[in-house]
Amino acid sequence: MSSAPTPTDPTHAVDADEASAFADLGLRAELLGALSALGYEEPTPIQREAIPPLLAGRDLLGQAATGTGKTAAFALPLLQRMPDDRRGGDPVSLVLVPTRELAVQVSEAFHRYGKDLGARVLPIYGGQPIGRQLRALDMGVDVVVATPGRALDHIARGTLRLGALATVVLDEADEMLDMGFAEDIEAILEHAPAQRQTVLFSATLPARIDGLARKHLTDPQRIQIERERTVAGEAPRVRQSGYIVARGHKPAALGRVLDVESPTAAIVFCRSREEVDRLTETMNGRGYRAEALHGGMSQEQRDRVMGRLRSGTADLLVATDVAARGLDIEQLTHVVNYDVPSAPESYVHRIGRVGRAGREGVAITLAEPREHRMLKTIERVTGQRITIDKIPTVADLRTRRLELTQAALRESLLEDDLDSFRVIVESLSDEFDMVEVALAAVKLAHEAAGPTTEDEEEIPQVAVRAPREGRPEAAGRGDRRGGARPRTGDTTQVFIGLGRRAGVRPQDLVGAITGETGLNGRDIGSIEIADRFSLVEVPVGVADEVITGLRGSTIKGRKATVRRDRDGEGGGERRFEGADRQERRGRDFGGDRRDRR
Ligand code: AMP
Repeated sequence: MSSAPTPTDPTHAVDADEASAFADLGLRAELLGALSALGYEEPTPIQREAIPPLLAGRDLLGQAATGTGKTAAFALPLLQRMPDDRRGGDPVSLVLVPTRELAVQVSEAFHRYGKDLGARVLPIYGGQPIGRQLRALDMGVDVVVATPGRALDHIARGTLRLGALATVVLDEADEMLDMGFAEDIEAILEHAPAQRQTVLFSATLPARIDGLARKHLTDPQRIQIERERTVAGEAPRVRQSGYIVARGHKPAALGRVLDVESPTAAIVFCRSREEVDRLTETMNGRGYRAEALHGGMSQEQRDRVMGRLRSGTADLLVATDVAARGLDIEQLTHVVNYDVPSAPESYVHRIGRVGRAGREGVAITLAEPREHRMLKTIERVTGQRITIDKIPTVADLRTRRLELTQAALRESLLEDDLDSFRVIVESLSDEFDMVEVALAAVKLAHEAAGPTTEDEEEIPQVAVRAPREGRPEAAGRGDRRGGARPRTGDTTQVFIGLGRRAGVRPQDLVGAITGETGLNGRDIGSIEIADRFSLVEVPVGVADEVITGLRGSTIKGRKATVRRDRDGEGGGERRFEGADRQERRGRDFGGDRRDRR
């Protein structure tokens, strides 16, 4: 920021708001510095509501899904509440999370926010060599982010001591209960000091979560981000679609979707300045005329950007919410959420930029698989459908580009004065067939219109499992199997010595079993695929038939060890305690996933 602030300069107003928005919550300078460096411009609704009570030491029960900014909502107060004098080596905060993936993500977030406070953060989860964790624990840590199974292991060994804990966070508590961690959580909380702050975040609040909260939380502050139900129809009539895409493929997916949509002008919303800058660069590299707009720019720079968009010199505006507030751009045809907005209100606000005054508008949201639930919440709150579409394939793109060329030619035929080119066509027609001449001209026009699809790679489609809102609390097994008849009678688990590393998917196991025995798919119960092995639940009466059948055949072209699971019914749970427990979340299970509690 170079120029001195003037009372009428809105840029400085943005910055002042921004600094105070997080500072108003009572966060200390080191944390404000980290947030500013990350390009966070303002707190998300869950952060605005959760941070003050957490700083005050209150217990909290928060309903918030991934994508709302809930990690920072608890991480920032925990970091702030770390005692300055931390000579002791035992952790003051413990965060329990359902999966290895989340343990890594959450501890990275703690690292980023707590850099200037020198916070020592350690993720511990099954699958990682325990020795490394032992050494780190031994050297002293402030925050441990752990999956319940591995946390309990360390508690039992005496290597994770909970005596100094000031705060325990249960993150994605509903997921943890679904994964069968209820007992582990109870056991861990028993080891924690009675005088402590307990924080529970969950995407859904079924009765079991309420029970957990009643038992372990004291007079909690309750926060639900989805409070204000917007009146259906209040949001503008806009075509709304969503694409589920893995994080790594997002830039390519954005390019592909925009190529197919071919907006006149689009605004792409990002969460932080950092992302705005990165994405602007990427999109320029893809041939778009993209401009960045964020709160870190001077008013003059921002005016210049807006001017370029209005005059058509730029076609893509990549912006943060704060910077784009109050913009009214007539040419805008598309709003793209590069991430799912952190609250439904923000979504409504963003898509309100298009479809104004009867104009046609399109809102596109790119969601990571984990954020699918947030999309559902937005749909519920707005009362409007967001259609989940498939990312266009290379063939779709090719077709679309040809359509655009055809449209351009039609326009030219109808409008342009083509006479000055007549001499070329006439002289070529002596030598070539007219259709051939036209084909060559179309080819040139098509190539000049944009890049070819030759360098394009397919973007993998991601299967999402249906969100579980409204799922019956005590559903029988059959209820979770997509309408399959409920099975009765005893079941047992069959151990198969091939897992994810061998490329095994649930459908391979179902295929092998139904192919080798008289069973049909509905007779097969839960399927769990770990890195090196799989467990399949089958009726006790046919277990031997299944084992013999599988021993005589191959799965994914390989012979596998097949036997009854040694621990028998349900005992196999323990096996997942370490390396593979978290694999049961069904990341790869696609439509055929069967889970169990
Ligand atoms: P979470 O819901 O905790 O998984 O966070 C979702 C994403 O939002 C993460 O990538 C965070 O880095 C990002 N994020 C969290 N809070 C903010 C904020 N106030 N401004 C911008 N990005 C944020």
